[in-house]
Amino acid sequence: MSTGREVMNPSRIVVVGASLAGLRAVETARREGFTGSLVLVGGEDFLPYDRPPLSKELIDGSGSTSVPYLPGVHDLSDRLSVDLRLGTWATAVVPDDRRIELGNGESLEYDALVVATGASARTLPGTDHLRGVHTLRTANDTHVIREALDSGARTVVIGAGFIGSEVASAARKRGLEVTIVEALPTPLVRAVGHTAGAALSALHTRFGTDLRVNASVARVEGTDHVTGVRMSDGEVIPADLVIVGIGATPSTQWLQSSGLLLDDGLVTDEFLRAAPRIWAAGDVARWSSPDFGRMLRLEHWSNAGDQGAHAMRNVLSDTPTSYRHIPYFWSEWYGNWIQFAGLPAGEPLVVAGGWDEPAFTALYRDDDRLIGVLTLNRRGDIMKYRAKIAARTSWDDALAFAATRKPTDLPTP
Ligand SMILES: Cc1cc2nc3c(=O)[nH]c(=O)nc-3n(C[C@H](O)[C@H](O)[C@H](O)COP(=O)(O)OP(=O)(O)OC[C@H]3O[C@@H](n4cnc5c(N)ncnc54)[C@H](O)[C@@H]3O)c2cc1C
Repeated sequence: MSTGREVMNPSRIVVVGASLAGLRAVETARREGFTGSLVLVGGEDFLPYDRPPLSKELIDGSGSTSVPYLPGVHDLSDRLSVDLRLGTWATAVVPDDRRIELGNGESLEYDALVVATGASARTLPGTDHLRGVHTLRTANDTHVIREALDSGARTVVIGAGFIGSEVASAARKRGLEVTIVEALPTPLVRAVGHTAGAALSALHTRFGTDLRVNASVARVEGTDHVTGVRMSDGEVIPADLVIVGIGATPSTQWLQSSGLLLDDGLVTDEFLRAAPRIWAAGDVARWSSPDFGRMLRLEHWSNAGDQGAHAMRNVLSDTPTSYRHIPYFWSEWYGNWIQFAGLPAGEPLVVAGGWDEPAFTALYRDDDRLIGVLTLNRRGDIMKYRAKIAARTSWDDALAFAATRKPTDLPTP
């Protein structure tokens, strides 16, 4: 593996992926004083925009319909002199020649390359021909889903993960009928564990979504447009809109011939470096985390931005630094705030509120160390515990701290 020294004075930096990580990377280059040529290649036609609103306020009928561009994007070409190549897919990278190939037949040479191609939604095989069946990853997806909800679509969500749950919540806010079908006995087990998964998914039932667990889909029915979802027990759930929320895969197909190490993402060292002159950031990157001593790949907003900035600082430095980051994400269902920091391990302990209550804080331990925290409607807690996870706080000290916190954030009636 190279040292940072060979790329400390790049004259052309190419960033592939024009979303959050890519945007933060190019902004950081200019902020750090890089005056050379800076190219941002993005497959979508849009300037970088924010994805979290796509499954929340952009579809819940509250009125927002415009693409949620990230702040600063209108300055990219002029003020930051970024050579923007939107609507352009990168199709390959040839590390030995230090160039990437584009779908339009062009080649672009680089001194340093930042790969920020994110992830794409998994699709359900056999449904391509059916109108009304959608994944939710892009502004275009949101547009068609909003139109369907505007016309009162009966909605079935396949998969009770975070994005599927947010879609269900948005449809219920409009008063529409929604069913979620989930193959596992408890949703979100990998993300938060059994008890917490059950506690969070109880929100669906409480807010009128029909949640079916242990439910396996036999096929999606319809000839041209979807008409329903047939379950393996023979029941057909009528549907005008089916949202497939079964996760995402890192967008590394274009790197297949590159010789780079691909294993659930583009694999990097702790400096976010995948190979000499090649760095990765955001949902596509699987890096060696010094905070947890393991490989991690996250699909979280805060990580994508932080990694984009960090990767670029390392590109420009002769002394790259490790990427230190305690994972953090949030989600909003039916007006309830779910936040998670750190990593899940085993079953958490509730230290404020309760599993059946409208607010709680639950802590996860790894041996003697506090390693994760999940909160429901306790926004005052999350960053305090995140800092404690970063400081490698012991389990006993975390419990002592928990005893000093208010039992509830909610106003008493
Ligand atoms: C609907 C939705 C809701 C979300 N809500 C939350 C939330 O509430 N909280 C939270 O923490 N996180 C949330 N996230 C996750 C968060 O948005 C992502 O972690 C973040 O967008 C990742 O940014 P990124 O830049 O790494 O990748 P992406 O945002 O995936 O962007 C990658 C870009 O690269 C482009 N690209 C891919 N391949 C190529 C190629 N070969 N050539 C050129 N361009 C290419 C893609 O078209 C895309 O524009 C949500 C995500 C989605 C989809």
